[in-house]
Amino acid sequence: MSMQFRDLKRQYEHIKGAVDSSIQSVIDCAAFISGSPVKNLEITLASYTGSKHCINCGNGTDAITIALRALLDDIPREQWKDRAVFVPDFTFFSTGECPAELGLPVYFVDVRRDTYNMDPEALQDTIERVIKEKQHKPSVVIAVDLFGQPAEYDKLRVICDKYDMKLIEDAAQGFGGRINDKLACSFGDISTTSFFPAKPLGCYGDGGAIFTDDDRYADLIRSIAVHGKDTSNLSDPMSKYNNVRIGYNSRLDTIQAGVLNAKFPVFRDEELSSVNRVAEKYNSLLSDTSLGLPKILDGCYSSWAQYTVQLPEDVDRDAVQEKLKTDGIPTMVYYKKPMHKQEAFRNTVGENCLCPVTEELCERVLCLPIHPYLEQSEVEMVCGKLKRVL
Ligand SMILES: *Cc1c(COP(=O)(O)O)cnc(C)c1O
Repeated sequence: MSMQFRDLKRQYEHIKGAVDSSIQSVIDCAAFISGSPVKNLEITLASYTGSKHCINCGNGTDAITIALRALLDDIPREQWKDRAVFVPDFTFFSTGECPAELGLPVYFVDVRRDTYNMDPEALQDTIERVIKEKQHKPSVVIAVDLFGQPAEYDKLRVICDKYDMKLIEDAAQGFGGRINDKLACSFGDISTTSFFPAKPLGCYGDGGAIFTDDDRYADLIRSIAVHGKDTSNLSDPMSKYNNVRIGYNSRLDTIQAGVLNAKFPVFRDEELSSVNRVAEKYNSLLSDTSLGLPKILDGCYSSWAQYTVQLPEDVDRDAVQEKLKTDGIPTMVYYKKPMHKQEAFRNTVGENCLCPVTEELCERVLCLPIHPYLEQSEVEMVCGKLKRVL
């Protein structure tokens, strides 16, 4: 069978028994929304990440939007247009889309060339510029654990405290990563993740989760995610028909919770170490090339949502991808366009952000196949062919 960029079929073969029976038990109960599988998953993931609360929701995009709504709850909506949100320029679209959709001005921050994550110095500079311009008040930072490695939360937290800003961790790609003993999804005032199938911990459709240690935020999140329901007396079954604010319909399907309950132990006990072995193999086989390799900072552990290299300046990326494709090797480019150059951000403050590192990365990055079920011999083949093509 041909090589897959992320082989979900191979994964399913490995965990079929547990997943099938978990899905079947949800169907047998005919309880398709909420119920004990969702509750159990929340308990498992809160305990794993070391967060006091985990609230499941519809997807990783909703998770960011709901997190922002909770953080800004005490600020009247008319003032949101004056509240600056800072997101990395090199990320998936949702990170900037969610604050923009709520009417918040979005400023893009450049990333580090070696880790691909938000550059704390660039964040500091961008905040200072916004303060000088006196147009918007710096309010929220959304940092991203890009490709699986947590952002530099020690430094980002110092900056957020200095300017009295809130911090969201977008760990859509970072679930399972950590800094020393602290796990991803525990670094933000509110942290979010996605269970989109290709993410480190994926379900079989859309899904997401929101994490916080703060009881008040947790209450707000539970309310906002389900039509603004009254969460003050959850033992009253009619309280969900008491709507105290405008919210969304963003729940995790019970079948998806069943899939995740079955997959999680395998993810924690096998897949994280397997995918790290794949990354180590890439690192060692590619160390003698002219490629820029992904850097994992001291004390950090990545869940390797992607293995992303940088091609030398004089290499034609399209041609490399085409040749590898002919050899049966799928590759991807995450991301081709800086956020500040997306059409959707034209004529906004974001358009004028200077992010030279992101611009260069967008020209040169190439993502190689990676997943926990990729064999060492397959990594050898990918590296051999890549070296020949270069
Ligand atoms: C995938 C992703 C999201 C969005 O998650 P969905 O579940 O697809 O909505 C948000 N941020 C980042 C960085 C992502 O990679």
